[in-house]
Amino acid sequence: MNRPTLHTLALSLLTTAAFADGAFYGDPPDATHPWAIHDMNRAQPMRVEPGTFSSQEKPGMPPSDAIILFGGKPEEIEKWQADKNPAEPTKWEVKDGVLQCVPGSGYVRTKEEFSDCQLHLEWSAPSKVEGNSQGRGNSGVFLMGQVEVQVLDNYNNPSYPDGMASSIYGINPPLANPLRAPGEWQTYDIIFRRPIFKDGVELDPGYITVFVNGVLTQDHTPLEGGGGHMRRSKPRAFPDQGPLKLQDHGNPVRYRNIWYRPLPKRAIEGGEASHMSEAATAAKRAEIAKNIREDAAKLEGNAKMLRLFESICYEANADAQEFALTAVKDFAAAMKAVPADKIEAQKGEILHVTKALRYLTQFKFLPEDLAAKQELEAIIKANDWEPKPKKK
Ligand code: MG
Repeated sequence: MNRPTLHTLALSLLTTAAFADGAFYGDPPDATHPWAIHDMNRAQPMRVEPGTFSSQEKPGMPPSDAIILFGGKPEEIEKWQADKNPAEPTKWEVKDGVLQCVPGSGYVRTKEEFSDCQLHLEWSAPSKVEGNSQGRGNSGVFLMGQVEVQVLDNYNNPSYPDGMASSIYGINPPLANPLRAPGEWQTYDIIFRRPIFKDGVELDPGYITVFVNGVLTQDHTPLEGGGGHMRRSKPRAFPDQGPLKLQDHGNPVRYRNIWYRPLPKRAIEGGEASHMSEAATAAKRAEIAKNIREDAAKLEGNAKMLRLFESICYEANADAQEFALTAVKDFAAAMKAVPADKIEAQKGEILHVTKALRYLTQFKFLPEDLAAKQELEAIIKANDWEPKPKKK
């Protein structure tokens, strides 16, 4: 057998084993982790059809679950309003699939309000270069209307670093300057998490991560209150939601392909994560155990027994444990009664159940001296069924 075949075979065996075993596989839940390692009781990740990347000529397609704020259609201007006087329609213009700032018309903002998000947008500074430093191709992306990711034509245009393109304005300079020439499209991909306060105490400062034209420029930068012009901001609570605002700084900056995906709650605000508080972990473990018990109720025989044993890895439950212990006692007794020349047919099931019992005793969900386990182990030993370690 050549090497690639061996490798492929080993991989397929591993995958099959992981699937076939499911439960009783990785380390069990603990006080701050509601799931086992490699836990099949976890929900599968939500399916999202990916979009396509943009070219200079053509904006890409957003992913399937994106909420489109501006996709190039003239009627999408209805999703935006003047910031100063929301009753008035904005004077920003949609032309050739592009949303353009009309200098002097004021900021524009979305009617929709949202908070934590993955935000994508593309912008283009005027190709006719005018002004310098903060005066050249200035606009800005205000997340929740609270914190500015700077939009500025910094192509061959130095300025104060904490005010350059993709800086968190007044807070943190970009890690790099990957801008294209003015007139070309620049892409911003932003991951935004608002600050979280409880009773005036900061639980999470909030963060922004930014990629500019695919290059990381903000790496989980803490918000420190959101920044601003000249004055140092202090950590503060944001509202629960806010509009996305785009800045009118007197330059006809153009935008296209603006969409976002809301992000799930963080553990600190009641969301799910691998690592959670003890209280949240206990509640989640109880929920998982309940779901497993409900699933077990639809099963029969050893499948039901093993599912009930699985449930006690998440939450102790006297009824589930008693039912499963009785079932495994009966199973061991039945196996003991199988004549020696017929026992081979039971090999798979005996190994399967014993593997579960080894896990449950190893992690102290059941006592090590469980009689049913000892009986099944004795059958395995007598028949020399223990898989041998492979010779290297
Ligand atoms: Mg600006």
